[in-house]
Amino acid sequence: MAPTSAPTAPAATARHVPLSMTGSAFREVGHELVETIAALLDGIPAGPVTRATDPATVRAALDAAAPLPDHGMEPGELLRDAAALLADHSLFNGHPKFFGYITAPPAPIGILGDFLAAAVNSNVGAWTLSPMASEIEGQAVRWIADLLGYPQECGGLFVSGGNMANTVGLLAARTKAATWDVQRHGVGGPDAAPLTVYASAETHTWIQKATEIAGLGTDAIRWIPTDAGQRMDVGALRVAILADRAAGMIPMMVVGTAGSVSTGAVDALDEIADVCEETGTWFHVDGAYGALAAAVPGTPPALRAMRRADSVATDPHKWLYAPLEAGCALVRDADVLRRTFSHHPPYYHFGTAATNFVDFGPQNSRGFRALKVWLQLRQAGRDGYVQMIGDDIRLSERLHTLVEVHPELEAVTQALSITTFRFIPEDLRATASRAETAEYLNTLNQALLDRIQRSGEAFVSNAIVHGQYLLRACVVNINTTVADIDALPEIVVRLGREVDGGLRVGG
Ligand SMILES: *Cc1c(COP(=O)(O)O)cnc(C)c1O
Repeated sequence: MAPTSAPTAPAATARHVPLSMTGSAFREVGHELVETIAALLDGIPAGPVTRATDPATVRAALDAAAPLPDHGMEPGELLRDAAALLADHSLFNGHPKFFGYITAPPAPIGILGDFLAAAVNSNVGAWTLSPMASEIEGQAVRWIADLLGYPQECGGLFVSGGNMANTVGLLAARTKAATWDVQRHGVGGPDAAPLTVYASAETHTWIQKATEIAGLGTDAIRWIPTDAGQRMDVGALRVAILADRAAGMIPMMVVGTAGSVSTGAVDALDEIADVCEETGTWFHVDGAYGALAAAVPGTPPALRAMRRADSVATDPHKWLYAPLEAGCALVRDADVLRRTFSHHPPYYHFGTAATNFVDFGPQNSRGFRALKVWLQLRQAGRDGYVQMIGDDIRLSERLHTLVEVHPELEAVTQALSITTFRFIPEDLRATASRAETAEYLNTLNQALLDRIQRSGEAFVSNAIVHGQYLLRACVVNINTTVADIDALPEIVVRLGREVDGGLRVGG
């Protein structure tokens, strides 16, 4: 089909570019945006954590069904519009009473770091395309290893988050464990034997995705039971490894958790390391949440055994307070990591050759995630991080104490910076363990969680421990103060009484 009109050729010297901005327009719009962002950040503590509106309301505010516009618009107006939409319809994990899941507020210098990184736009896949950015990433990885007490000569890189960092560890373990060329033949190669992975029942769901991605399938996961403190039963681990080995399988990797997502439990990493050493199995630590607590005096001594791991995953967008996204994978033997992902001959990398991060992970083009983290590590220093993480833990312990003494609350667990608890109406306290009451308390606390989340006053999430539905508050939040912690029990109890009243009338 012939075009209806011939395209007009660009002018010889001045090209009309719909995405262009003059230097002065960029300055004007940019300064205004910085003002808007500063005002947004200033206003977060006094506002709700979230307005918790329904999808229909948010879609209406966006005009979600609108078609792609044919013509463009003025960038200043556009940014004002976008900032207003986000200010009115976001959940702010930087709110001082945000205690849900494990998501940190963004450190201000990290916000600015992402801005700077976007402007330079380094492609940190290849050193040639990102000379300084590649070196900064290398330094940030070594500093994180140092904070964890991990060997700084390890291989490592930034990825999108904990899921990917753990997946990188699992793929490296696969390279090491397979007695055949798994890169070439895959897990179903002619000489292949089944590869198995050992993880406790408290392991985060990354393990399912990673075993699928690696071609093992979730049946390869041996779910090891946990003890009363939600830690892996290391005796059962040893038995499972030996049984699989006797059956002709290849035990590929054990996952120890440094801070479980539900309750902050830290596995007996030293004992797991012993079993891995004895059986020649790769020892991986999922430290997405808790690994950085190793830098803080007084935290569980088991964290110090992370130095014995073959690989560690940690999440700078959790306890380093980086804006999303930033995960970090560390692998003790950099050569195993390279063999896992590099498709160049090995001599290409020897000597003083530069690091090309494309050889260390699954991505090709890579953004400069490391900059924000590197800036934050330099702004706060080691002392600053030890203080901030330690303060989060102390705030969580304070919450646990407040909950313990409150007549309408029951404290259940406290580890790292996670406290779990539940609301128990005073008249049900004496009978709380009877089956009928226990069931009601689960219903009540589940409804209460929803009520708290919708209130915007505070935000907690949930955990299930020994069959009990619990409220879960996690402090990975540099904006939280003692006053925010002290306010939480009263908010929970006030809303709890309301929900209880409603359920009893209705039920
Ligand atoms: C958060 C978390 C993950 C997943 O990390 P993402 O950054 O959300 O991908 C994995 N394991 C643990 C223990 C976590 O806390």
